[in-house]
Amino acid sequence: MQKILVMTMMLALGACSTTNQEHLTMATLWAQNAGEARALSYQAFNIAKMKLDQDLRRSSKKTRAVVVDVDETIVDNSPFQAQGILDNTSYPTGWREWIDMASATALPGAIEFLNYAHKRGVEVFYITNRKVVGFDATYKNLVELGFPVKKENMMLREKDSSKKSRREDVLKNHRIVLLMGDNLGDFSEIFELDSTVERNALVDQNKKHFGGKFIVLPNAMYGNWEGGLYDGNMRLPAGEKKKLRHSRLKSIR
Ligand SMILES: [Mg+2]
Repeated sequence: MQKILVMTMMLALGACSTTNQEHLTMATLWAQNAGEARALSYQAFNIAKMKLDQDLRRSSKKTRAVVVDVDETIVDNSPFQAQGILDNTSYPTGWREWIDMASATALPGAIEFLNYAHKRGVEVFYITNRKVVGFDATYKNLVELGFPVKKENMMLREKDSSKKSRREDVLKNHRIVLLMGDNLGDFSEIFELDSTVERNALVDQNKKHFGGKFIVLPNAMYGNWEGGLYDGNMRLPAGEKKKLRHSRLKSIR
């Protein structure tokens, strides 16, 4: 009995030690420290304002809408990533607790832009894949930061991680001027693919929309792009994932 217990403990420790989140260190440090990260965020919201102003100069039959994703688009969750690196844990461990803290900070330029849109009579919709269980904490976090939030415009994930049907709901009574996100799935369901090659080909085919209707925020910490590295299998053991990451590196030799 004691032997089984010791073996179980060793297996548990072994599993824990292979979680290794070290590969996230540079991406997280970049998000938290790089002036370039701040600059890209301002750049995204400056372009968004320019595009919105352009649109506001012409008449619109339907009420205009700006649709934003939440995580790594208007708020910064890098402290959650940082904690995962230090504790050697990975999503979803600790994510619910982090959401409940309602402590995410705003990304540079986000509050100003969305308040500007709101003041110009544009409806702001928040389409996020945070689960509905985190609705109240997310609302509290956004309101306390000063975002123009209406509960009825917050669309969290109920069952489907695809944002297609939620965008369609917005389109019933609005015209979407801009979509802002850090993940290609924030813009269109056509990008909901695991294959890196296919995703990149679709980006090339749709290049005219980026900086137009689609405004992208940088996120090197996580996203559906990562699934492509693991052939869509995010549940692979840490060692397998590391091997695949290395095999994907395009090197000299
Ligand atoms: Mg996001």
